[in-house]
Amino acid sequence: MHPVLQLLSARAAGRWATIPFMSFAINAIAGRTPLVLDSPHSGVDYPDDFGHACDMPLLRTAEDTHVEKLYDFAPQLGAAWIEALFPRSYLDANRNTTEIDESLLDEPWPDPVETDPVVLAKVRLGKGLIWRLTDDGLPIYKRQLSVAEVQARIDRCWKPYHQAVRAAIDAAHDRHGYSIHLNCHSMPAVASSHATGNPGMVHADFVLGDREGTSTDPRLSRAVGEHLQGLGYGVSYNHPYKGVELVRRYGDPARHRHSLQIEVNRKLYMDEQTLELNEGFQPLKRDLRTLIERLLGLDPREL
Ligand SMILES: [Zn+2]
Repeated sequence: MHPVLQLLSARAAGRWATIPFMSFAINAIAGRTPLVLDSPHSGVDYPDDFGHACDMPLLRTAEDTHVEKLYDFAPQLGAAWIEALFPRSYLDANRNTTEIDESLLDEPWPDPVETDPVVLAKVRLGKGLIWRLTDDGLPIYKRQLSVAEVQARIDRCWKPYHQAVRAAIDAAHDRHGYSIHLNCHSMPAVASSHATGNPGMVHADFVLGDREGTSTDPRLSRAVGEHLQGLGYGVSYNHPYKGVELVRRYGDPARHRHSLQIEVNRKLYMDEQTLELNEGFQPLKRDLRTLIERLLGLDPREL
């Protein structure tokens, strides 16, 4: 069943108590296993108050289009599922709220702003909490945003998203003594000019990011990578994507909380120009299902 229908059926059955957060900006489905999946970048509900200037086709290149469809079987297997319905270009849930690009604002930001030069590199690429530039380096706005406007996006999108991810991981960890959080993304076949620090890079089939073993036990990351390699895919670790805010914030392998970023190459399942699914979609989805089933049978404390 589609996650939204499942959510509606949960409401019909009076099971709201099992769903921690309700928001028009996210879709959250409670789990019953140690597994939590989230998709922060696949949202396509473009809000009326966005006020962007660039064309929609360009704006849509920011999406991890269709990632929610690749994993839509996961809730039936008992994994918790959290999905942003708002677009990444409106607010990037995989950023901290301190990653503010003040050049985009018409007044100073009243709260602390990031000072770490490594983190600031993303803001300089135009990819802070609120994006200034597309992956091709073109401006998203022809105006400056107000502080109140950005604060409203944080309240409506960032806060419910992070509350739901945290609650799902806490619930999984409470039930089972460990949690495995897969932070699900997709990447273009070739990196655009302003997407990463590696423009023009040809990406592997999968890139697994555990922030150099600090957000997931590296043995677990290897188990995921070896499963994918066994299916015939090419896998890279931590390059060019090592994992960002959602795995940094919730991963704590010493406490048996594992958060792994999984980037899948869009060429495997879609046409990057038309955004249509291609013939690779169903085989890829079947393979991802075997990965989820493998993880459901794996206790990382025994690795
Ligand atoms: Zn993404």
